[in-house]
Amino acid sequence: MGTIDGLPPLREVIAAHDLVAKKQLGQNFLLDLNLTAKIARCAGDLAAFDVLEVGPGPGGLTRGLLAEGARHVVAVEKDARALPALAEIAAACPGRLTVLHGDALGMDLGSHLTPPVKVVANLPYNVGTELLIRWLTPAVWPPFWQSLTLMFQKEVAERIVAKPRTEAYGRLALLAQWRCETRIVMTLPPEAFTPAPKVHSAVVHLVALPAPRYAADEKLLMRITAMAFNQRRKMLRSSLKGLGPDIEARLLAAGIPPTARAEEIGLEAFCALARGFG
Ligand code: SAM
Repeated sequence: MGTIDGLPPLREVIAAHDLVAKKQLGQNFLLDLNLTAKIARCAGDLAAFDVLEVGPGPGGLTRGLLAEGARHVVAVEKDARALPALAEIAAACPGRLTVLHGDALGMDLGSHLTPPVKVVANLPYNVGTELLIRWLTPAVWPPFWQSLTLMFQKEVAERIVAKPRTEAYGRLALLAQWRCETRIVMTLPPEAFTPAPKVHSAVVHLVALPAPRYAADEKLLMRITAMAFNQRRKMLRSSLKGLGPDIEARLLAAGIPPTARAEEIGLEAFCALARGFG
């Protein structure tokens, strides 16, 4: 049994286990342990928390989370080739790292964790948005996690924190900000990863609110915002006319000018509109 500090550098781990990055698994690894510790610190104090990490790969961020004092890390990895490297980390931190082999999209992740829980991950880009939407739309709110600290490509991070009247504003911003405080806490250039992706990346920190910011039925809110943003250049009286013949009156009752476009309307007004249908 060793310690985390006694583990070999990640480049050696990758060479020893022949972990050649696979594009189809979204593998862009972080090899700088100072950087992974910094990302772990973006999640705040971890000592009292179980941490869910999706896609640990060779374990750079996993090491950061353990070094920063996480009570217990549950790491879910699809690529069996990474398991021996992760087993070495588990051996260096007895009882503090559980590695689950499988597809995070097909697992009931909450059932493997003891509250309180934080999620911290350098997500595979191809599954990142899907996982985020799942975590934001559980059957009951508040969810199993208190915060999400997640790496995305920068454009996606900007869509999560976007405000009205910007290009990036849309359904993802509305859903995330309805239920969470959201902010970008770090941006990273392509060279921070091995291999370097084509795009810049950013870490978003989302803290779950005890209840959604404004009352609204989730399904109605999602349906309305889908219709509104699917035709974001159109006036709302036109993009939402499928909701009924009285849409202009409903928009006015929610304080929304019928001639406004989706990207001009804030979360509070969309929730008021959804409540009008409730
Ligand atoms: N966390 C590591 C780091 O920061 O260096 C690796 C990050 S890499 C961007 C994404 C990781 O997610 C890879 O290890 C990949 O094998 C894994 N992965 C991809 N799809 C997955 C899935 N559906 N479920 C679990 N892990 C997945």
